[in-house]
Amino acid sequence: MELLQLKKLDIKDKKVFIRCDFNVPMDEFGNISDDRRIRSAVATINYCLDQDCAVILASHLGRPKGEVVQKYSLAPVARRLQQLLKRHVSLAPGVVDDASIKMTQELPRHEILLLENLRFEAGETKNDPKLAEKLASMAEFYVNDAFGVSHRSHASVAGITHFFDNKHKAAGFLLEREINFFSKLMKNPVRPFVAIVGGSKVSGKLEALINLLPKVDKIFIGGGMAFTFLKQLGYNIGASLVEDDLLDEAQHIMDEAKKLGVKFYLPVDVVAADRFSEDAVSKIVTAQEIPDKWMGLDIGPATVRLYREGLNDVQTILWNGPMGVYEMDKFARGSSKIAHFVADSYSTTVVGGGDTADLVQKVGVDEDISFISTGGGASLELLEGKVLLGVAPLMVKITNKEA
Ligand code: AMP
Repeated sequence: MELLQLKKLDIKDKKVFIRCDFNVPMDEFGNISDDRRIRSAVATINYCLDQDCAVILASHLGRPKGEVVQKYSLAPVARRLQQLLKRHVSLAPGVVDDASIKMTQELPRHEILLLENLRFEAGETKNDPKLAEKLASMAEFYVNDAFGVSHRSHASVAGITHFFDNKHKAAGFLLEREINFFSKLMKNPVRPFVAIVGGSKVSGKLEALINLLPKVDKIFIGGGMAFTFLKQLGYNIGASLVEDDLLDEAQHIMDEAKKLGVKFYLPVDVVAADRFSEDAVSKIVTAQEIPDKWMGLDIGPATVRLYREGLNDVQTILWNGPMGVYEMDKFARGSSKIAHFVADSYSTTVVGGGDTADLVQKVGVDEDISFISTGGGASLELLEGKVLLGVAPLMVKITNKEA
């Protein structure tokens, strides 16, 4: 199986519809606080412009739930794109209303038109075939460069692909880079290969953990998910986050790790707090001494030292999920220390997951990470070994003759 490549399409002088992922974070003033996703789309857009195309861009932003909500307008994205591309970017008034469709029809080559937020249309997240058809009718070619939503069954990602044959659709450069990077990482990592897995719950990352086990040499667990494992080991975890229905599963993962010879690291100490709040009373305790009714909200300093030791000799690090509640300064130290260590390491470092990407950016070490994935859920599905729903229609089977 191979991805349909943009470079192989004959798009010269044609109209191209590019599904991008411009779902960027905004601050309280409505400013874009991290434009990584917009910057990542520039290569594909510029390539199409260089091929003398008329370029229609489409994306979602936030969750307006099928209604026009002004705060989710793509207007700030259009302005940022304009700065980055150093070209005029027009913003359509809507998605598939008459005025917007007219603008797509009249769009001259070398011009860029950004449709309004796709999720202003209720049919987008329902993969409505009528919406998919209307979007598809705007252009002769379809390019998906929206890695962050490629696992979603949405009209602009899944439904739309049925209206284009293999000579008229492809993966954009960003999507191609993400897919190739993860598949190389999972097939042929430079060893020792380790995974640092954190975040809130085991349930969200269960499949990924199970799929990673036979591939990695060590796993380091952090975040809220650690407590399900610690409870299964018989520790008193107080009021920490726990998934009681997954205790057996946690045991199974630890047994499997043992069987496969994978070193499985759990926190040895935590920052415990008397409640889930920035103003909580907190103290560092060993994982065996969490007081009743207290909750572990970060890994402690001994765990940071232990994990650093374990990470010293590795060649490839995959990191998904923060080590604690990094959104609160008080519980961000563990994640921040691990981020610095990972960034300083000479190994290949891969960060997947929206929260972890946000974290390394906040800590200011994003430039020193080898690869930061633009998609949280999508990268997790790749780690689970799945073919993404929006990517499957962009793949070709290689016949013997072609190979
Ligand atoms: P996920 O979406 O599963 O990657 O989880 C990310 C979230 O996990 C972040 O918002 C963190 O605040 C949260 N988190 C990390 N550690 C803990 C913890 N010990 N207790 C509760 N929540 C946590």
